[in-house]
Amino acid sequence: MKRIENLNLENKKVIIRVDFNVPLDDNLNIIDDNRIKESLKTIKYCLDKNCKIILLSHLGKVKCEDDKKTKSLKPVAKRLSELLKKDILFIPEVKGELVNKAISNIKNKDIILLENTRFLDLEGNLESGCDDNLSKYFASLGDVFINDAFGMIHRSHASNVGISKYIKESCLGFLVLKELDYLLPIIKKPNHPFVVILGGAKVSDKIGIIKNLITKADYLLIGGAMSYTFLKAKGIEVGKSLVEDDFIDFAKEMLKKTNKIILPIDHACVKEKDSLDFYIKDTMEKDDIGLDIGPKTIELFKSYINKSKTIFWNGPMGYYEKETFQKGTKEICSIISKTDSISIVGGGDSAAAVINMGYRDKFSHVSTGGGASLELLEGKSLPGINI
Ligand code: ADP
Ligand code: MG
Repeated sequence: MKRIENLNLENKKVIIRVDFNVPLDDNLNIIDDNRIKESLKTIKYCLDKNCKIILLSHLGKVKCEDDKKTKSLKPVAKRLSELLKKDILFIPEVKGELVNKAISNIKNKDIILLENTRFLDLEGNLESGCDDNLSKYFASLGDVFINDAFGMIHRSHASNVGISKYIKESCLGFLVLKELDYLLPIIKKPNHPFVVILGGAKVSDKIGIIKNLITKADYLLIGGAMSYTFLKAKGIEVGKSLVEDDFIDFAKEMLKKTNKIILPIDHACVKEKDSLDFYIKDTMEKDDIGLDIGPKTIELFKSYINKSKTIFWNGPMGYYEKETFQKGTKEICSIISKTDSISIVGGGDSAAAVINMGYRDKFSHVSTGGGASLELLEGKSLPGINI
């Protein structure tokens, strides 16, 4: 694994694999440009080195011709141009005459963005299947490859792993290096007390991370719907709250293995899932649905968070898409923001919640990779790192 600073990039034609997989609304406006902003450091560094820059990215999944209308990188080119205050040459294809012409005319400090690499998935899963010929083609476009797409680092696709087999030199960009600088110490040598906060919908999504982090953390605070499977495993009534019955045995096993797991002691409940008419309860009854952690739980979690030196958080504390049930998640943001701990958030929904609630700058690190950060913390080796 080479670092970008250790390569001579002066005047080179560099291909940067970025992660511009941003959410778009129905009018194709970018809802959250965090991933574009986070990629600027590597792009600016290459501009300073007088590079010719070719950007590759995917956006969403492309399964049919119609997807091409809503998954184009054109709106990203516009936003990137605004952020860099510089023209970006957007090529509306990944391969073909337009690309060849643009690459043959490219000059130092020019930036070319090719269309969504996954458009080629329609020609036989070429990008996502890491097709050899496509990998060679991507490699032929430049001299040096920089992988800066952390959100994709757990996948082996042509534009992030395949390409590195056929190009002379490859390295990791600043965004990926920053992610690794924050995330790797968590599984290697965290500062103690190390508090892990887990929430979100499903235990089943988080088994790997629970198993791995339980051995490293001092406390595991579990909120969100996930906590009801654990509470039920302890024989506590959770009413009609979301429970994964198939994972009760796993929860029992974890609870037996360790006393590091801290569970909610009160809940914001409703009678119907769509109701906003909530009440706080310590003990649920058969017809209650828990949609957020309650004030006593917030205080309980606070007492552990305030003792910590390292915090890793994944998964919202409640049904945060509804403002009424954002309180738990917001309070946890606020409590963490007042500590001096190293604080890291990973996970698509939790990172979005932290950013939307205005706490992005209060955390040491907000990961740009949901699945990627989880797989890294599960202890899996990630193909995009070993290029
Ligand atoms: P992340 O993307 O951060 O890893 P998840 O995808 O695991 O998080 O979980 C996010 C989802 O969990 C959200 O849609 C949220 O509404 C849901 N959720 C959290 N707590 C509850 C709850 N008590 N009841 C229902 N859904 C919940
Ligand atoms: Mg999610």
